[in-house]
Amino acid sequence: MSYKIAVIPGDGIGPEIVRQARRVLDAAAAKYGFELEYTALLMGGASIDAYGVPLTDETIALAKESDAVLMGSIGGDAKTSPWYQLPANLRPEAGLLGLRKALNLFANLRPAYLYDELKAACPLSDEVIGDGFDMVIVRELTGGLYFGERHTEVVDGLRTATDTLVYIENEIRRIAVKAFETARKRRKQVCSVDKANVLDSSRLWRTVVEEVAKDYPDVTLSHMLVDNCAMQLVKDPAQFDVILTENMFGDILSDEASMVTGSIGMLSSASLNETKLGLYEPSHGSAPDIAGKDIANPIATVLSAAMLLRYSLDEDEAANAIENAVRQVLKEGYRTADIASDGCTLVGTEKMGDLLVERV
Ligand code: NAD
Repeated sequence: MSYKIAVIPGDGIGPEIVRQARRVLDAAAAKYGFELEYTALLMGGASIDAYGVPLTDETIALAKESDAVLMGSIGGDAKTSPWYQLPANLRPEAGLLGLRKALNLFANLRPAYLYDELKAACPLSDEVIGDGFDMVIVRELTGGLYFGERHTEVVDGLRTATDTLVYIENEIRRIAVKAFETARKRRKQVCSVDKANVLDSSRLWRTVVEEVAKDYPDVTLSHMLVDNCAMQLVKDPAQFDVILTENMFGDILSDEASMVTGSIGMLSSASLNETKLGLYEPSHGSAPDIAGKDIANPIATVLSAAMLLRYSLDEDEAANAIENAVRQVLKEGYRTADIASDGCTLVGTEKMGDLLVERV
């Protein structure tokens, strides 16, 4: 079996961390008997430097032709980089938004996992942490408040701003399906988060999620109001397996969930559409402050590559091998600078890649 992977190294630390993720992917492919064919694509600042625009039609076309897209991160230092002298639609971030739109990536999956070895970085008390937590937030990415009609006007002499929150049932159904499918690959629990005591869009959300749940009798569905969920994430995070929620609630809750893990260099993410195609990238940015120094943590990108294997290629065994290699390396006490603690062995980006490759 051979798969086509589009690779966008991006800017800042992007090329360094993607290089390590590719090496780890290759090791997993060799072990589990499949081939990966890479096509390197430019996007963001690197594309501006080469073509004057952050995203070209060619990059979109090649990404669409691939089985999955692996990305580092894009962007530079907003204060010093010439990219930020350009109009907003020509800056690096416009490339990423354009690619998400072109690929119709409506589902954003962000795991929040607390490694035993990194418990010290978690801001919650030992009592709350208990045996740790392992959840995925499935956030709707292309509908709701961020995409509804908006305007500001003067009404009766007062400045008045209006944003509209619209959800159409098919938008809810397709993200719910992603959440239930994700739960099937995990502990088979979906908690759908809404504000159904107030919002019509949430009441429709709840109804449609319950309809979808009928097709997944093996998955347990519960509902939670968003205000309660925000509290439960810091009170008892272990109760969650898959959290399914709409765009704005997901924006806030996924940042809260990643914050409680305490280590930005460890957090992966996937953005998916209705086909198997997905865009996989670390949750962090391009960290221009540490670019080119061989100190960036490649693990978030390596774990994004594991998600790529699981969700786009259905190579679950290879994905497990990568995740186990990460656990093993941490258990053996190796750390990049961002997650270092007393008594650990400090390693750079390349060395961390070597260690992961050996353990896959
Ligand atoms: P950032 O995530 O790049 O960095 C925040 C802090 O975390 C920095 O101190 C950085 O050194 C550190 N850090 C981040 N990733 C790390 C890693 N893998 N290993 C070790 N340390 C790491 O956020 P920022 O500084 O606000 O943004 C920098 C650039 O990245 C901006 O241009 C921003 O727009 C862009 N950005 C891109 C994406 C993306 O590509 N999806 C996401 C967020 C930010």
